[in-house]
Amino acid sequence: MKENFPEDIPEGHIVRLHQHSDNASHFKSTGAINYFTTLIDTRGGPSQTAFVYSFGAPGHGKGPFDGIGGRWKNKIDQAMSTAERKKLEFTDTGYIENVRDVFKALDYYFGRSVKKDSQLAGKNPIGHYNFFCYLTSENPISRPTEAFETLDGITKRYQIVVKSEGIVYWRKRSCWWLSCTDSLFRGPLEWGQDYTSEQCSTIEDESTDYDGDKTADRMYSFTKKSCPKTAGPGVAMQSQTITKNRNEIASKLTVGDFVLFRKSDDDVEPIWLGRIMSNPDWSGQGVYQNETRQRHTFNGVPIGRGEVGLYVMWYEEIDVMSEKLEYWVSRSENTPIVQNNRELIPIEVTMHQMLEETNAVPKLRTSARGDTERSVNNNVRRIEDWHTKELEIVWKMDSDLRRLALSFDNF
Ligand SMILES: [Zn+2]
Repeated sequence: MKENFPEDIPEGHIVRLHQHSDNASHFKSTGAINYFTTLIDTRGGPSQTAFVYSFGAPGHGKGPFDGIGGRWKNKIDQAMSTAERKKLEFTDTGYIENVRDVFKALDYYFGRSVKKDSQLAGKNPIGHYNFFCYLTSENPISRPTEAFETLDGITKRYQIVVKSEGIVYWRKRSCWWLSCTDSLFRGPLEWGQDYTSEQCSTIEDESTDYDGDKTADRMYSFTKKSCPKTAGPGVAMQSQTITKNRNEIASKLTVGDFVLFRKSDDDVEPIWLGRIMSNPDWSGQGVYQNETRQRHTFNGVPIGRGEVGLYVMWYEEIDVMSEKLEYWVSRSENTPIVQNNRELIPIEVTMHQMLEETNAVPKLRTSARGDTERSVNNNVRRIEDWHTKELEIVWKMDSDLRRLALSFDNF
């Protein structure tokens, strides 16, 4: 592709793929599906990629390669019959006894272009073959031991859309309606637990027992499914790295920074916008990294060892029904609260102010001189003043940032 069709892959690698395959088990296994989901990470991430896998009936979809394979198999059968009558000239023993003999036979008949069978094989569009012999004794392919959580029902699902590593959506039947296919490529990041393209929802599968999950019985509804790797290279590292990153990123936040949280249980808006505020109890800092050996609790919010407490003011979308992604400071909560960083989405958040109006987040301290009550009241007033002015200010989020945030799903 890179050499011959560079214009078809401007990114230098494939970022959008709709692959159709027959239902052969080596393509359609939990391990294979997990592998498909890992591809997107090396291709620019879930917000920049779209991978759809549609499976047909087993054994269908035969193409030139199956024909070639069949032709080779016949040739080896023929050679073995010949060897019962006379010695073959192209193997050491004159027989076909092992993998190397098969290799030598194929190379003899199809690999060297002087042999007329290479012309025969040339009926299909492939005109020349190169054979390579790999023996496990000489050139073992080392395979790591891996384990995956089993994807129940995989044999009954025929269309699979990758969301992010370890997360897919699947449905019982593929749909080839153009607008439906188009929606697959606009991306499953916005989909919830289930997704049904509007005109696709009506047919129910009468053959399965109703088990309480209505969408599971619908032929054309997508259901979210996770297919995590449970053992093998990268597994332990991954979750450790994510936690480490989340703690590190959180500990470096400063007053006035915007942050995003993942609220998986919120069906309407799974991404929450907040802003780091100055906490007088933390010497005016907006973050508290728990470097002690114990768990610390602030206003009922536990911050475990290594975790980071964040002092956050919530923002809310002005109109959740629009796609404008305009936010303003929360109307209902007018004071900041302590949040745990466990649900923090570890990405840098840049918001754009619609009008140039400055309203710096005040830095608050508790007075060291003992008149604590006065300084507490003073802090409360400064936050109120800031909040009142902030009510007028509109902040805009980039849609790419939101898509990136939605791709973090492994909490
Ligand atoms: Zn459809």
